[in-house]
Amino acid sequence: YFCNQVWTDTEKIRVCVRKRPLGAQEERRGEVDIAMVEERKSVLIHERKEAVDLTQYIQQHVFYFDEVFEETCTNYDVYLKTTYPLIQHVFNGGKATCFAYGQTGAGKTHTMIGTSQNPGLYALAAKDLFKELKTSKPGSRLFIWISFYEMYCGQLYDLLNGRKRLFAREDGNHVVQIVELREIKVDGVESLLEVISRGSKGRSTGASGVNTDSSRSHAVIQVQLKDPGDFVVGRISFVDLAGSERAADARDSDKQTKIEGAEINQSLLALKECIRALDQEHAHTPFRQSKLTLVLKDSFIGNSKTCMIANISPSHVATEHTLNTLRYADRVK
Ligand code: ADP
Ligand code: MG
Repeated sequence: YFCNQVWTDTEKIRVCVRKRPLGAQEERRGEVDIAMVEERKSVLIHERKEAVDLTQYIQQHVFYFDEVFEETCTNYDVYLKTTYPLIQHVFNGGKATCFAYGQTGAGKTHTMIGTSQNPGLYALAAKDLFKELKTSKPGSRLFIWISFYEMYCGQLYDLLNGRKRLFAREDGNHVVQIVELREIKVDGVESLLEVISRGSKGRSTGASGVNTDSSRSHAVIQVQLKDPGDFVVGRISFVDLAGSERAADARDSDKQTKIEGAEINQSLLALKECIRALDQEHAHTPFRQSKLTLVLKDSFIGNSKTCMIANISPSHVATEHTLNTLRYADRVK
């Protein structure tokens, strides 16, 4: 099957953009589509501007990426070009991480987690991992383990264990571990979907009944291949990042919102630098610059590959955020 899709050994970073369709409600409100995807490689943004004499004009911005997915693309289309080629890498003992970046409402959760009817990238990847496990050599028995946690305001919560507060620790070998993070062994896609769907509910309603806004937290699904001795053979992680527009909340807001905004801002800046460093030999990887990048340290060192999917809304109302997202993604390359 699609064996030509394998990432080359030297390719460590892939940066893609996904445009979602205009929603029915947005159409009713008269919002217009300002993002044109061309040849799956570039996206052209028509920014409406007003001149000093109040006449309107259009400023065009064009951005090129490894792949740009138009609004008709399905999660499976996105999967084939982003995550699928990483499956072999994971089987060969590599680490892979997929990030969904973008403004709240741009389609990050749809892409990464999706729903039981329309599963996201993690489920499509797991399906192929299960398939690969079945065909692998007898005697090389491997198992798939899942964990799912969220980081809110720099603090970790286990979404598979009643939102229990967790702590990360760096051991003597400089390996960062989340202590007592629950891992669940799954034997097929059905049980996997069930586990994640249960965890997702915990994301918006905490055990205490307090709602944390999912746009202000990063959620991480970790899929690990382990041998019967619990040794981690390979790992692929899916990160549904906090809404990128929240990073600006550091300015004029109430105290709590400011703290959250500052944390998100710092983690997204550090993330960009850490991904960029993957491609540069002898580069200094600043994973200590944020809690997010410290916890995900493993994703930025050694035999790791990273894929970023920058999600954008097509609506003219979101022009500013869309341009910010595209500029951020452009700088990750
Ligand atoms: P985010 O997680 O970035 O805040 P969501 O994934 O929740 O955004 O998407 C916002 C809304 O848009 C949801 O109702 C979702 O179902 C819808 N949506 C997002 N991406 C797509 C897509 N590619 N096709 C159809 N609907 C989408
Ligand atoms: Mg979301």
